[in-house]
Amino acid sequence: MKLGAAAIASSVRAREASPSDMIRASFARAREIGAGPDGLNIYLHSDEQATLEEADAIQKRLDSATDAGVLAGVPVAIKDNIASLGLPTTCGSKILAGYVSPFEATAITRLRANGALIVAKTNMDEFAMGSSTENSAYGPTRNPHDVRCVPGGSSGGSAAAVAAGITPIALGSETGGSVRQPAAFCGVVGVKPTYGRVSRYGLVAFASSLDQIGVLGRTVDDAALGLETIAGFDKMDSTSSEADVPIYRLSALGGPAPDKRGPEAAAIEAIRIGRTSVPIPPPPSTSTLAGVVIGRPKEYFPDSLDASIRDLCDRSLDRFRSMGATIRDISLPRSPLAIPVYYILAPAEASSNLARFDGVRYGLRVDPGNGLKAMYEATRSQGFGPEVTRRVLLGTYVLSAGYYDAYYKKAQAVRTLIGDDFRSVFSSGVNAIFTPTTPTTAFHVGAISDPYEMYLNDIFTVTANLAGVPAISVPIGRVRRLPVGGQIITAHFDEYTMFRVAYALEASLGAEAHQ
Ligand code: GLN
Repeated sequence: MKLGAAAIASSVRAREASPSDMIRASFARAREIGAGPDGLNIYLHSDEQATLEEADAIQKRLDSATDAGVLAGVPVAIKDNIASLGLPTTCGSKILAGYVSPFEATAITRLRANGALIVAKTNMDEFAMGSSTENSAYGPTRNPHDVRCVPGGSSGGSAAAVAAGITPIALGSETGGSVRQPAAFCGVVGVKPTYGRVSRYGLVAFASSLDQIGVLGRTVDDAALGLETIAGFDKMDSTSSEADVPIYRLSALGGPAPDKRGPEAAAIEAIRIGRTSVPIPPPPSTSTLAGVVIGRPKEYFPDSLDASIRDLCDRSLDRFRSMGATIRDISLPRSPLAIPVYYILAPAEASSNLARFDGVRYGLRVDPGNGLKAMYEATRSQGFGPEVTRRVLLGTYVLSAGYYDAYYKKAQAVRTLIGDDFRSVFSSGVNAIFTPTTPTTAFHVGAISDPYEMYLNDIFTVTANLAGVPAISVPIGRVRRLPVGGQIITAHFDEYTMFRVAYALEASLGAEAHQ
């Protein structure tokens, strides 16, 4: 499936193809590439027949001349920690094997309201803890670019689905880089919105002060369209922001239009799905970044950085310059502290959030028959895998009396300083920050067994989660045939500038982004 989401929806609306054609094409591609458990192991749950029935319902909407939505007939894959009606939600864990949610995440409801069709729930590291999808209780996902390699994680199944051309858009989740890192490893676009931009109602909680739903897309336009659809206030999530959601898509802003609709139609749709629309900013252009200041933080280009990754970043920075942007050397001095801070705070919050999986209410129950405590213990030790167990133990430790001040409180204080660094850069006239997304390209399945070494994968991504700012990874080239991602970070709620810079980079690199 080579078409982007906007192009699929416009051909469906123009009756050139039916929603069920799109679903059949998506499943045919999944079979062709070997997405099943014996192959790339991308999907955990799917039901082609049920999705075809939903496609018929979209067709009826089209036939009755109702607007079928901006994503009419677009196949979308969903990470398995986002609650869906119809398909199970297992979070890649044995403890939730077979669990079907009685309610649906707002992000999915909004996709469906706009005509999208959910084709599958994708594989992931158990409870989103990991950077390779190897921590799934259902076996690792393989990278479509090289099946010996991991796709990254924890949203590895979603990134692989998009990279393999099964769906143009997939939802993932981010706590410390889990959308951007797999996007970089799989050569696709991955966006983590500002904390609060997207409702988390129905996202299974990992670390609530960091978690956000994010979008993976084959192109910047796919990611922008996906985010536009799911963003905005939701009364079911008190942490969702009431800030207006601008139209992010270039195609809706008078730019080159894979989509035949104008800005007005997009604004009307925004209202239809229950959001306020805002005055549409002047159309960005993919060929000029005049007046845009892009910061290059020295902490994200350490001497130890892989030389080929540095070269590809330099090429991107040259493109920014040639489009009229000013590149400014900046410093985010507390960023190198982000890994220890994140790996104290995230496990602390996880140890509390995961307490609900106790064999009483959800999923697995192992009951040796000698009391409640023994039932909790047996359920949790058999239901959770080793990484989840490690995080729960680590989190419980840093929250316990005597260690709370030494670890948890200190990490909170440093988190504030990391956020201050971003605030001071963005208030000094810098519009966007550019960094590599990851320190390496995709590694081989089984190559990293030391947890600390695995955690270091997140070194360039966790800072945006700790600070709450939006960030996107876009493909900027390849090293030894494996994709490399460049990261663009902007100020809180300035996804608009983030997309503008991403569109420009994508257009300027063209085919070189995948070479
Ligand atoms: N790799 C990080 C972790 O293991 C981030 C995970 C995430 O963003 N969900 O916690």
